[in-house]
Amino acid sequence: FTILGLESSCDDTGAAVVRGVPGAATILSSVVEGQNSLHEAFGGVVPEIAARAHAERIDVVAEHALAKAGVRLTEIDAIAVTAGPGLIGGVMSGVMCAKGIAAGAGLPLVGVNHLAGHALTSRLTDGIGYPYLTLLVSGGHCQFILVRGCDRFDRLGGTIDDAPGEAFDKTARLLALPQPGGPSVEAEAARGDPARFRFPRPLLDREGCDMSFSGLKTAVLRMRDTVMEGNRLTARDRADLCAGFQAAAVDVLAEKTRRALALYLDDAPGDPVLSVAGGVAANRAVRAGLETVCDTLGVRFTAPPLSLCTDNGAMIAYAGLERFAAGRQDAMDLAARPRWPLDAGRAGMLGSGK
Ligand code: ATP
Ligand code: FE
Repeated sequence: FTILGLESSCDDTGAAVVRGVPGAATILSSVVEGQNSLHEAFGGVVPEIAARAHAERIDVVAEHALAKAGVRLTEIDAIAVTAGPGLIGGVMSGVMCAKGIAAGAGLPLVGVNHLAGHALTSRLTDGIGYPYLTLLVSGGHCQFILVRGCDRFDRLGGTIDDAPGEAFDKTARLLALPQPGGPSVEAEAARGDPARFRFPRPLLDREGCDMSFSGLKTAVLRMRDTVMEGNRLTARDRADLCAGFQAAAVDVLAEKTRRALALYLDDAPGDPVLSVAGGVAANRAVRAGLETVCDTLGVRFTAPPLSLCTDNGAMIAYAGLERFAAGRQDAMDLAARPRWPLDAGRAGMLGSGK
């Protein structure tokens, strides 16, 4: 199958062409157009501006992806598109564009859950088999998901408040570092002392694999204000705060991963695998922390290349490929959904499709 995938649920306009079969597909092209410069002045993503930019650019980005892949629309088998969850204006821009192309070219339409796109990325990059455990850790989500099939997801636990990506972004804002906060906090942390500030490790005393990250950003605020009293924040202070924050986030993720793995290993296959997905999976300290846990438990660890951790069209094209191969398509009344939990069961994943 050759699938064109579109992504526009947040602040990246993505399109990609993916070819192959479930578990063995390759990316022919993947184009991502970020919107950082548009949102910079506002200190965060402005939904209205994002929607407009997606609407203006998505068809151009899609054409670019086709051209880069050297594939004509007539060679495409289906159009996959993020149908949620996300900022509704952006999701609608993508869904409208996909419907337009599908109608115009007489092609099947496949609605994809954005989180399924993240969760299935390691099948695209590494061809890992079902079932596997994924830690989906991004700007809006943080959850352990047992992936049993392209539309069979069991949630084992997750954050009870903020997502780690949000905490990274908030930390960057508090320390006057550029957005998105993840990469800037990671860069600062690399030259900081993680032991100077004592950050909490929320919920580690509680059983299970639920997590909490809102306390970490509050801790950043409190410690920043303590250091700043009467003074300016020095480069060293900033780096140490970032290092302390990141170390705490990594500790929590690693320890909870150890517990989620214990649950999964109860009836895991012969070759247990943990994959990590989502924007925060691009963080090297996070990857290293998870890898260490996997090593001690004899579990294979896989993480997508950095460019496939953050939002992109390739993961949507691939998730669409799996759904299409399983005979799932959507009708032209496919809805854009601001909220769409992954574990809503099969009915939830099937959307309006057949
Ligand atoms: P969701 O997928 O939950 O809907 P999203 O699509 O906005 O949210 P992604 O694009 O998957 O999120 O990830 C973006 C988030 O990842 C941002 O919060 C960003 O700060 C974070 N991030 C990106 N790179 C890094 C990094 N190196 N370290 C930590 N966080 C990072
Ligand atoms: Fe995402």
